[in-house]
Amino acid sequence: MEFEPVIGLEIHAQLLTDAKIFCGCSSKFGAAPNTHTCPVCLGMPGVLPVLNRKVVEFMMKMALATHCVINRECNFARKNYFYPDLPKGYQISQYAHPPAEHGWVEVELDGGKKRIGITRIHMEEDAGKLMHDEHNPASYVDLNRTGVPLIEIVSEPDIRSAEEAAAYLRCLHEILVYLEICDGNMEEGSFRCDANVSLRQRGTEPFGIRAELKNMNSFRNVQRALEYEIKRQQYVLEGGGQVVQETRLWDDTAGVTHSMRSKEEAHDYRYFPDPDLVPVVIDNAWIEEIRKEQPELPLEKRERFMREYQIPAYDAGVLTATPATASFYEATVASFPTINPKAAKAASNWITGDLMKMLNEDKKDFTASPIPPRAIAELIQIIDDGTISGKMAKDVVEEMYKSGKPPGEIVKEKGLVQITDEGALTKTVAGILEKNPEQVAQYRAGKEKVFGFFIGQVMKATGGKANPQLINDLLKKMLAGDR
Ligand code: ADP
Ligand code: MG
Ligand code: ZN
Repeated sequence: MEFEPVIGLEIHAQLLTDAKIFCGCSSKFGAAPNTHTCPVCLGMPGVLPVLNRKVVEFMMKMALATHCVINRECNFARKNYFYPDLPKGYQISQYAHPPAEHGWVEVELDGGKKRIGITRIHMEEDAGKLMHDEHNPASYVDLNRTGVPLIEIVSEPDIRSAEEAAAYLRCLHEILVYLEICDGNMEEGSFRCDANVSLRQRGTEPFGIRAELKNMNSFRNVQRALEYEIKRQQYVLEGGGQVVQETRLWDDTAGVTHSMRSKEEAHDYRYFPDPDLVPVVIDNAWIEEIRKEQPELPLEKRERFMREYQIPAYDAGVLTATPATASFYEATVASFPTINPKAAKAASNWITGDLMKMLNEDKKDFTASPIPPRAIAELIQIIDDGTISGKMAKDVVEEMYKSGKPPGEIVKEKGLVQITDEGALTKTVAGILEKNPEQVAQYRAGKEKVFGFFIGQVMKATGGKANPQLINDLLKKMLAGDR
């Protein structure tokens, strides 16, 4: 029997608002425990939550970017469960009336693009965090994260492999970062994912029983956990067994998933509308206001780069991986007097090559580049007009990075200008031929290999600065001259 995986992902993205979702406390990560708290987020009796407008706007940005329908009215619900990091005994979330539904994204895969449906997006508050100290048999609770705003993005079960799941995750991650509504940091938990996976017989409609995987904190781990889980379920089914509906935890070190709890018992949240919060009404004018502010999204940008600058898909992908890289590239290309495909490709090569390598080594992004875009354009121009060779440019770009100086200045300071003056080079070549009559005779007698010797001599005499093409032409001409 051949099995087909069916996967749906639930993503939690922490929003980059200054304040928490229902109180004025800071939502910034990394403060001393319990310093970002107040009676509201501590869950004291009698306090009233007030919705942060920015949270709704950030949710709308994601909804528009993923082609969702934004509902005119939505409300908040209490999701009841007990956990020591949840002081109220319930989490404020959204349930029966979500704000956004029926969306989709287009994911880039090796074999082309695939559309994956978005079931819904809703807003909710995060819970706190328990901390354990191995030297002390106690649990500590940090409530700084309590009430930090999240959006949950639930996908349709449209994903069919672990690689597709990773591609979908990357796609959503990139959109959130482009929209500047989430920092996307998976290690700090600002971007988290639960993966639901089941197997069905290929070619049949009904879905199998699913397991929900948690605790994966990188794209790679999501992919590995799903690969493992698909094999595990296949093994169970082939052995005549049944997959049980449960939550499983990914163990990164062992590379396996473990059963955490069975789904049935964990699932009775007794949702009911939160009586402390009024329904949220989103009118068209508000939607249009947000729509106007939407930036160009990664996929659109990639396609435009390929069209406008005629660069290959690979280059466009690397250049649009972050908004900072993309705007650096566009500023570089805009510094050329005229945009032409050759210069656009050269700019891509320098930016995705030497410059990106140096920035990565320093853990810097393009906004912190010591070389401004204009200087990369200048570098390309002085290579193009023959002032320096491509080989010299490698050293120049390193020096530009170190000193922040423009390439023209470095070239002048170091006396790097390529010798393209034919008169001067002719003299040098003539001198070398005169000093080496033996080799000249050998060449003229047909020993072509000596040609390399002459090139070496000219390079030595000019400190490597002579234009290689010009040396070649001159040597050919002058060696042949009196033959
Ligand atoms: P829950 O709240 O129990 O997690 P949801 O209905 O919100 O349930 O579904 C969560 C995710 O599970 C969605 O992304 C959905 O696409 C996915 N899903 C639902 N059924 C299956 C299945 N049989 N196999 C794989 N994924 C599934
Ligand atoms: Mg779930
Ligand atoms: Zn608070």
